[in-house]
Amino acid sequence: MITPLGLILRERIRRTGSVTVAEFMELALGHPDYGYYRRKDPLGVAGDFTTAPEISQMFGEMIGLWLAVVWEMLGEPSRVILAEAGPGRGTLMADILRAAAMVPGFLAAAEVHLVETSPALRAKQAVTLKDVQPVWHDDLSSLPGDAPLLMVANEFLDALPIHQYVRGKTHWHERVLVQEGKDFAFVTGPVVEIKAPPAREGDIFEIGQAAREVTAQIGQKLQAQGGAALLIDYGHEFSAMGETLQAVRQHAFAPVLEKIGESDLTTHIDFQAIAEAARPARAQLLLTQGRFLRAMGIELRAERLSRAQPDKANDIAIACRRLIDAAEMGTLFKVLALTHSDLPIPPGFAADDA
Ligand code: SAH
Repeated sequence: MITPLGLILRERIRRTGSVTVAEFMELALGHPDYGYYRRKDPLGVAGDFTTAPEISQMFGEMIGLWLAVVWEMLGEPSRVILAEAGPGRGTLMADILRAAAMVPGFLAAAEVHLVETSPALRAKQAVTLKDVQPVWHDDLSSLPGDAPLLMVANEFLDALPIHQYVRGKTHWHERVLVQEGKDFAFVTGPVVEIKAPPAREGDIFEIGQAAREVTAQIGQKLQAQGGAALLIDYGHEFSAMGETLQAVRQHAFAPVLEKIGESDLTTHIDFQAIAEAARPARAQLLLTQGRFLRAMGIELRAERLSRAQPDKANDIAIACRRLIDAAEMGTLFKVLALTHSDLPIPPGFAADDA
């Protein structure tokens, strides 16, 4: 059975001949009535995927400590914009606030702002964060600019639309979606001029224009307001050829062109490209999630939690391993810290930090 969004896509292709991969993602994820992120809470066991903050409170606690220490490095400003993009159920922000409360004065200074488009998730965030009265935004442009910014985003950039390009004999081509009989299909479209690393015929290169624009905006805000941002996602350290668009439904990979609007669509982040987009804000040494969480003391935190709740010790150990082990989320996920170019190196990011 074709989904409502499948019908809308079919009609759009009938009118224009083809759509780009970015238009397809935008429609599937963001259509005001049927878009994947507009309709439901996709997280957790009953949903389609699980994220680090939903695995364990320790993830957000380590980030909360990092943010509070950076606030101290900023000279403990009496007001700071604590912003999260794509806050899901509000779990990460709740864990951040609980851990950062250890640093006197931080909570009183922090003004919580959430960038979120999903009405279903805004409702959950309002419940989780009812004590802090967050302010919601449709995008980053309305975040206040009159105080330093501390920003965090986990698995947010991977949901933004990308373009895909196919290398022909002599030129790059936009990769587009067309209708073939009853089905949708990816085909090689018109010639385009793009900036890409050296490639061979048939290679696919992805440009996450939206992610680059968002990080450029964060970089500009950091330079203008002072502060730092922590962007966590799966992806690669250097720009490289390869197709990474994937669909996930009920915790398993699904065909990208089936049940449009009912699967999560994501791509891997090109960290080199987004770090460059953020200039002149400074991109710190790119860390793996495992290295970042270890540097912030997650193993010690796991021990303490286990001592306090011995009956949960096994679950806590399993969650900790999931977050930091190379075979699990520890290496695929990366942590990019962006800071105002004058800020000293933040905790965990010096080359010799263990
Ligand atoms: N950070 C959370 C949720 C990740 S899922 C966690 O780690 O659990 C992606 C989040 O980004 C969801 O909250 C989703 O609604 C939001 N989102 C997706 N596209 C968005 C967009 N274009 N603008 C703002 N928020 C968006």
